[in-house]
Amino acid sequence: IPSGTPEQPAARRLLVLSGPSGVGKSTVVRELRRHHPAVWVSVSATTRFPRPGEVDGVHYSFVDDAGFDRLVADGELLEHAEFAGKRYGTPRRPVVERLAAGVPVLLEIDLQGARQVRERMPEARLVFLAPPSWDELVRRLVGRGTEAPDVVERRLAAARTELAAEPEFDLTLVNTSVQEVCDRLVALLEIPARSPAPE
Ligand code: 5GP
Repeated sequence: IPSGTPEQPAARRLLVLSGPSGVGKSTVVRELRRHHPAVWVSVSATTRFPRPGEVDGVHYSFVDDAGFDRLVADGELLEHAEFAGKRYGTPRRPVVERLAAGVPVLLEIDLQGARQVRERMPEARLVFLAPPSWDELVRRLVGRGTEAPDVVERRLAAARTELAAEPEFDLTLVNTSVQEVCDRLVALLEIPARSPAPE
């Protein structure tokens, strides 16, 4: 069954992946980009600095505060939020264009952003990526070693709040295996128009 048929509203092909910092969202996204090119992963704008290996325009569009202000003022962002002292937002146009073309879209964004998308595009499905346990989450956040201790602290505080929001989501995937999570996401995005979603 071809994608983007009238039976399948375009936004049905929009998945929002959210969950606490350190849960492994970016690993999932990296795996999706590598092995499932049929899924288009949105490239966010952010005011934070690039981490080693991150490429401008690929992993994020790195902008300064003035540049971010402009995006907001021009209405170029589908949603935006501040996270751990930095700003993040999803450029609207590329998302809308791909959905219109029937391309499945995935947004990897924080909880505040997920809430905004739900308001603005109620057809979007919100997926919560959960850690196997709190201890495991702490281990991953600290073990990443890319952030200063005060940043880790802020991210842990944010993680606690984000974990409590799980019931707001349409479904939860526990990140025990990156591959399994990717397979589930791909299946969610490629549901044939005539069969109901296996939720
Ligand atoms: P990081 O700095 O670790 O790449 O991302 C920090 C947090 O910002 C993560 O929870 C990530 O999902 C979120 N994030 C990344 N891009 C966006 C975005 O465009 N909008 C929102 N609201 N959050 C984002």
